[in-house]
Amino acid sequence: MSRILIIEDEAEIAELERDYLCINGYDVVIESRGNTGLAKAMGESFDLIILDLMLPGIDGFEICRKIRESQNIPILLVSAKKNDVDKIRGLGLGADDYITKPFSPSELVARVKAHLARYERLISQGIPKENEAIEIGGLKIDLAARRVYINGEERNFTAKEFDLLTFLAQNPNRVFTKDELFEKIWGMESCGDIATVTVHIKKLREKIEVNSSNPQFIETIWGVGYRFKV
Ligand code: CA
Repeated sequence: MSRILIIEDEAEIAELERDYLCINGYDVVIESRGNTGLAKAMGESFDLIILDLMLPGIDGFEICRKIRESQNIPILLVSAKKNDVDKIRGLGLGADDYITKPFSPSELVARVKAHLARYERLISQGIPKENEAIEIGGLKIDLAARRVYINGEERNFTAKEFDLLTFLAQNPNRVFTKDELFEKIWGMESCGDIATVTVHIKKLREKIEVNSSNPQFIETIWGVGYRFKV
C-alpha cells in the first residue's frame, strides 16, 4: 500500500484529502506544521508527499527544497494563490506538480495516482547494479551511491541534477531537446517548464566543468538542445 504524507495546516482540507485518499486505498499521515512535516518526511519512508505552501514554521518552498536534496519521491504542491505558480516555476524547486485551492478531491486523487505510477515505473527501470559507475575523462558517477566525483573530488548534486547528469552521461553523443530532457527527468505532468532544464544544465556545468563557458562535457547544440560529449 502506498504511503502518503500530507503537510497541511488547514485541518478541514487535510482531512478531506486524507478521506479521499483512504477510500482509494492509500495509507495517509497528516502533519500540520512545517517543521514537524519536514522532520516526518526526512525520518520516515513515504511514496508521495502533498505539500501546502503556506505553513506555520517552515514554508512549503523550503520544505520542498530540503526534501529534494536527498529524495526523489513525487511532491505535489498545494497553493492557495494563483500567482504562486510563477514562483514555483521560477524557483525550479523540483516539485512534480502543483494544484491550486480550491480543487476537487477527485482531481487530487487522479494526480496522486498518475505520479505514483510514473514513480514506480522510474524505480523499476532505474535501480542500478551495485558498484556500477560511469567514468568519463575525470568525471565519475557512482550510480549505486548516487555520488559524483571530479578528478577524485566529490561534488554535491541535488536529486534532479544527479538524474539529469546521469541520463545525459548514459546516452552520450546524443542530442536531446530541452523538452525531451524535461519530460524524461521531470515527467510530463510536472510543474515547471523547459526553463527548469536550462537552470539545471547551468548548475551541472558549474559543478563538473573546469570552464563552464567552454564546456568539456555538456555541449550546447544551438537551436536544438544539449549533448554529452565523449
Ligand atoms: Ca496553509
